[in-house]
Amino acid sequence: MSRSDKPTTAVAPELFEPAKNPRKIGVLTSGGDAPGMNAAVRAVVRYGISKGCEVFAVYEGYQGLVDGGEHIRQMDWKSVRGWLSVGGTTIGTARCMPFKTREGRLQAAENLVKRGIDSLIVCGGDGSLTGADVFRSEWGGLIDELLSQGRISQEEASTFRHLTIVGLVGSIDNDMSSTDITIGAVTSLHRICEAVDSIHTTAMSHSRAFVIEVMGRHCGWLALMTGIATGADFVFIPERPPAEDDWESVMCTVAQRHRQLGKRKTVIIVAEGAIDKSLNPIKADYIKDILADRLGLDTRVTTLGHTQRGGSPAAYDRILATIQSVQAVEAVLRSTPDTPSPLIGMSNNKVTTGPLMKAVELTHEVAKAISEKNFARAMELRDPQFAEEFEAYNASTILDDETLLLPKHKRINIAILHIGAPAGGMNAATRTAVRCAINRGHRAFGVYNGFPGLIRGSLEELSWISVDGWTSHGGSELGTNRDVPGVDVDMGMIAHQMQKNNIQALMLVGGFEAFSALVKLEEARSKYPSLCIPICHIPATVSNNVPGTDYSLGSDTSLNAIVTACDAIVQSARSSRRRVFVVEVQGGKSGYLAVEAGLATGANTIYIPEEGISLSRLQSDVNHLVDLYKDDDPDKSEGRIILRTETVSDTYTTDVISNIIKDEGNKMFDSRTAVLGHIQQGGTPSPMDRIRATRLAMRGVQFLEKHTSEALDKAFEAKEAVPVELSKDPASAAVVGITGVDVKFRSVQELLPVTDLKNRKPRDAWWFEHRPLVDLLSGRGLFTPQAQAARAQSS
Ligand code: ADP
Repeated sequence: MSRSDKPTTAVAPELFEPAKNPRKIGVLTSGGDAPGMNAAVRAVVRYGISKGCEVFAVYEGYQGLVDGGEHIRQMDWKSVRGWLSVGGTTIGTARCMPFKTREGRLQAAENLVKRGIDSLIVCGGDGSLTGADVFRSEWGGLIDELLSQGRISQEEASTFRHLTIVGLVGSIDNDMSSTDITIGAVTSLHRICEAVDSIHTTAMSHSRAFVIEVMGRHCGWLALMTGIATGADFVFIPERPPAEDDWESVMCTVAQRHRQLGKRKTVIIVAEGAIDKSLNPIKADYIKDILADRLGLDTRVTTLGHTQRGGSPAAYDRILATIQSVQAVEAVLRSTPDTPSPLIGMSNNKVTTGPLMKAVELTHEVAKAISEKNFARAMELRDPQFAEEFEAYNASTILDDETLLLPKHKRINIAILHIGAPAGGMNAATRTAVRCAINRGHRAFGVYNGFPGLIRGSLEELSWISVDGWTSHGGSELGTNRDVPGVDVDMGMIAHQMQKNNIQALMLVGGFEAFSALVKLEEARSKYPSLCIPICHIPATVSNNVPGTDYSLGSDTSLNAIVTACDAIVQSARSSRRRVFVVEVQGGKSGYLAVEAGLATGANTIYIPEEGISLSRLQSDVNHLVDLYKDDDPDKSEGRIILRTETVSDTYTTDVISNIIKDEGNKMFDSRTAVLGHIQQGGTPSPMDRIRATRLAMRGVQFLEKHTSEALDKAFEAKEAVPVELSKDPASAAVVGITGVDVKFRSVQELLPVTDLKNRKPRDAWWFEHRPLVDLLSGRGLFTPQAQAARAQSS
């Protein structure tokens, strides 16, 4: 038995419990490849093994199932090493016509029975999952036929009377109903945004127009999200065609208005399946001709094609594929002959299990709704954020033709201020807030350099064009610092400047300092009338430690920066020597970055403030490393990563841990440190952060409007001057946060009881349930008693 058979993490010990009925699981990837499919296979293999299951990879999708033989291979722990960072699918995928025939499926069934496989996890799109369901529904008949033809024995027929099927959705289009997001879509969005960002610079240089075609035959998710994340001028998607027959004129008017404001570039995003309201396709070349002929713009078409499928998966897809695949194995272990085949999905930021066929049916319904011109139904069938994001895009990107304008008396002066460390998405949020505000008739003022800037009177009105291009800018265009009102900056001076500049609403963009500022400003309302205005806080910090939100802006960008750095570090170690890297990451007193990056990079273990470090824990981890390196091929170099949150311990510093590992590793392995520091703020914000920023900022402006509305109406009706005090309501000082799929406003008073002010974070953290998976999937699972027993049996 291994020295480290006992997991050391205190949470979710049931993960390490043996399965009562270990199964023989086949895993295959099918249909179009999607980044993250490898992470899915890795997690199925490793989690399955840790539960005592035997796991087989079926190579080349259903074709491998039909061909059998070499195409069905038993996997061991090491066979999936390094797969997290590899795009596409290493076990291959294929379109397989024979599987669409009963004869092909009969052969596939025989191959499974002969290999003793009783469960199948299929990762693919709706076609693949339909195939999986057909296979399961006729399984009994296939078994009878194989028996009657003498191809399997009576005993085999009784043992394999039932087949378990579990579906995972691998699709870059995010086109499956019943799940908010599919494996691969976010990475694809990364590739598209990188391309569009590059096109922006050439478009700017030549003052050109570009029409960019992105994938999505029946689904506009990629096109819409690209439009939001890159600030494109116009987007065409299949689910929501332009309302007007003469959409060409509408598009030209928008492009022209933007040009008149000073834009040097025009970017139009068109989904492959874009249509007009009469279902005629809207093609990139046609749009190009319109822009060239009517507006005289030098216009080019770029079709992104297969670059959209490629490359190393983004952090989000690695994590999504991993946590869903663990649930897929759990679903296999739970399944009974009577349970319908489940589909593993995602809803409200949680992994879900629902009926597979229902999801496939709803997915087909989208195409049907579109073909029947029932576009409202098509939008409804998309994930719940889709419609809101569409609205956010329109409200922030297209300079409105005055239809969104509020009556004059409802228009306010909004100040926007950044506070805390820079985080990806701060600028995107500011841009959206400014544009939404202008479209409503408000005036938006940017405050430079946080609260110290405000007391110097350093603020300026921002115009629609002055924030152009900010979506893709990292850092903070306005300038930011950590000074908190009432602590580092005099509250009286702040109140004075607010009154002097007639600021009637305030938007703070920042991390925990912004939350502290919100608390202090709300407290000070009793003293200063000019602070009796609505104040909203858009959470933005890499540490993701703001209460009242599942995600802060910048945390996704940071995760991706860490993942990219760790991939490079592991590659270096693998090329040269057996080495353990102790990588120090940011996060303050929050282990979010370490946990999520730990999952996404396959870190060996993590040290986080929520758990601390003890000598016994270190001892156990070192023993575990010895076990792993002993188990490795002696001729191969192997790099391993341990992530340590910067504040976890004053005693066990990054250097101390690394030195201990080096000494204990003796000649078997050595250790180095890597302190990632400010690299973690990331260069260009990730698409997810830009999209979240857009949505939160739009809702933020709506919040500020809502909480000024009553006082403004009252003054207007009474023909009185606008009062300085617009709102004292505690609900009007709130965090604008993401909760599941919703944007929620949670007041200071609501949040304080659930906030750990000393450690600067919320008391509960949804991501903490991911914690034990890091250790389990990186090697502890190899030494669970059940995995050891299964190993002994197979050898
Ligand atoms: P995706 O899974 O990405 O939607 P496809 O629609 O091409 O991709 O499906 C992938 C494979 O799934 C097909 O090549 C075929 O082998 C199998 N498949 C699809 N539909 C069915 C079906 N109705 N019956 C059996 N197999 C199917």
